[in-house]
Amino acid sequence: MARETFPARLLRKVCLSDSAQCYHFEFELVDRPAFDYKAGQFLSAVAVDGNGKSQTRAYSIASAPHANRFDLCVNRVEGGFFSNYLADLAEGAIIQIHGPHGHFVLHHPPVDAIFVATGTGIAPMRAFTQALFPPSGEDHSGGRHIWCVYGTRHESELYYREYFEQVAAAHPNFHYITTLSRAPQQWTGHRGYVQQYVGKIVEERQAAQPSLSPATTTPPADATPQFDIYTYICGLNNMVSEVRNLLTEHGWDKKQVVFERYD
Ligand SMILES: Cc1cc2nc3c(=O)[nH]c(=O)nc-3n(C[C@H](O)[C@H](O)[C@H](O)COP(=O)(O)OP(=O)(O)OC[C@H]3O[C@@H](n4cnc5c(N)ncnc54)[C@H](O)[C@@H]3O)c2cc1C
Repeated sequence: MARETFPARLLRKVCLSDSAQCYHFEFELVDRPAFDYKAGQFLSAVAVDGNGKSQTRAYSIASAPHANRFDLCVNRVEGGFFSNYLADLAEGAIIQIHGPHGHFVLHHPPVDAIFVATGTGIAPMRAFTQALFPPSGEDHSGGRHIWCVYGTRHESELYYREYFEQVAAAHPNFHYITTLSRAPQQWTGHRGYVQQYVGKIVEERQAAQPSLSPATTTPPADATPQFDIYTYICGLNNMVSEVRNLLTEHGWDKKQVVFERYD
């Protein structure tokens, strides 16, 4: 049975990268005063394709909850239906959605965290970051260290770069690390894949505080373990698997690694 959908109006659309055809969207629910979701969750968007068939796709919400509004970050996929449907929307257009869905949410109370994203996988990391460091208001990070490791092919695909740089400048416990897999010669920043930098963070953190083990305590078998750090990974399956494997090699428990796969 089809789920009940509700309408959302596109208020603002901004092209984040012309070469990658990636867009930032700001929506508001048409007839609901609030959208009750947790930072990191996704929604399902529903539309009818050219053959009259109803299509549904998942999109991470790219903003922390604020009234009845939400942001999305979507890039065109060549030959794909839904990404192009969204990318072609004009401001004022109405889409149908249901949700929120998913368990890609931050653990509470806050502990250290590594956010790992590639491409539009940065969407839920933006939501997390807005939730931890609201632009005006109380800092919810509890002073814990947050590393956001973001990998793309080209510099022009570092979506929301200015926002993350501003948060890093304002909060010494927020560390924004970018890396390009196809950097031009003149690029002076990091090169290569996110895995390398995640490994470095884990090793340096362990070396700086040898008392920190991946898990602070060994809990009884029936209790929820308390960890002093979690990693949140979002993007395409290959990258997610590689980062998970790397953390396993570093002795991390599976429960310390939370992930969302886009494919
Ligand atoms: C939980 C979840 C959250 C997601 N959040 C986002 C998001 O925030 N932003 C976003 O842009 N996408 C996101 N996606 C991916 C999104 O749901 C669609 O898969 C994507 O927009 C392509 O849909 P389409 O209809 O255009 O292409 P389709 O017609 O479904 O697929 C066309 C072809 O492209 C391939 N493909 C599908 N998705 C991708 C992709 N992401 N990259 C490269 N190739 C792909 C397919 O295998 C297929 O061969 C998310 C997926 C999941 C499961």
